[in-house]
Amino acid sequence: MTRIDAWVAPTAKSKLVRQQVELGPLAAEEVEVQVEHCGLCHSDLSVLNNDWGLSQFPAVLGHEIVGRVVEVGPAAKGLKVGQHVGIGWAAGSCMHCRQCKSGNQNLCPQSTFTIVGHKGGFASRVRAHWAWTMPLPEKIDVAEAGPLLCGGITVFNPLVMHATPTSRVGIVGIGGLGHMAVKFAAAYGCDVTAFTASENKFDEARAFGANHVVTTKDSTAIKKLGGSFDLLISTVNVKLDWDALIGTLAPNGRLHFVGFVLEPISVGVISLIMGQWSISGSPIGSPEGIATMLDFAARHNITPQTEHFPMSRINEAFERLDAGKARYRIVLDVDF
Ligand code: NAP
Ligand code: ZN
Repeated sequence: MTRIDAWVAPTAKSKLVRQQVELGPLAAEEVEVQVEHCGLCHSDLSVLNNDWGLSQFPAVLGHEIVGRVVEVGPAAKGLKVGQHVGIGWAAGSCMHCRQCKSGNQNLCPQSTFTIVGHKGGFASRVRAHWAWTMPLPEKIDVAEAGPLLCGGITVFNPLVMHATPTSRVGIVGIGGLGHMAVKFAAAYGCDVTAFTASENKFDEARAFGANHVVTTKDSTAIKKLGGSFDLLISTVNVKLDWDALIGTLAPNGRLHFVGFVLEPISVGVISLIMGQWSISGSPIGSPEGIATMLDFAARHNITPQTEHFPMSRINEAFERLDAGKARYRIVLDVDF
């Protein structure tokens, strides 16, 4: 049994309050981690607001976690007390379904989401299954690595699945996920276009590695890019002019969603057929995918651009994210 300090959301849309929480006995395959830093992802805000109807309260949010292993369950493998690790959106999966056995654990229907019915990383300690507790490469900056564990893998995975170094890639929305997507796609070798509604992000998007920058507010400007992109990765959580964006796909192109847009999108089937276009989406990545992403980030010196807050200012941090002011990912440093 471990009693921990945590920032708790008692109900949907509430302010977070500091409380002591009981974690219960450590399961045989679990690992317990002393949290040092935890990124603030838009999914934390969506779960706080119960935007997707799956939240469970009281909730301990936070799923871009970096810390040190403090306890290892008797059946947990490959981890040592004292080691720096990261934990993202998934804290576990069943490990015996077809998806888990084929290395696609991120598609396991029995996944444990770190912040849904499980206590997340805005806390002094957190637990996860050993397979989802990721050792960090030596070269990675521990204080900045948190956002890679959710946002980073979520945008890296579509590049691995659908891009080559010669692809023309558009990243739609330059927020937490989007700015990491630009960095990853540029390091991958792609020709990168950043689509943003915020003109004050143009210069920074170029600094992250974008070769071109376009506003998402001007459908005419988007339409001028007709036939250009092999892959568009949408990281926004709002409705955009999808018709105009789909029209920018080159033959064989793909519009891939990682941002949760609640409204259904309508797609013209004829243009889909004639362009041999695909529309797809994906959740995070597998543990092996996360390990590969961390190695790639370390090798290419890819670091999220962060703003650090002490965790005691967590409510202010949520307000800043909600107001669209985060540049580009907020990381909370534990100060219990
Ligand atoms: P974020 O930092 O808030 O970024 C979202 C971006 O969307 C904003 O920076 C903004 O980019 C754009 N945007 C927001 N409101 C807009 C508006 N009214 N009009 C036009 N553009 C707008 O959020 P995030 O943490 O990157 O997360 C993005 C989405 O991905 C969320 O839905 C999150 O839940 C989801 N997510 C999915 C997965 C997955 O596994 N698939 C994993 C993590 C997160 P510009 O200013 O550049 O326009
Ligand atoms: Zn996330």
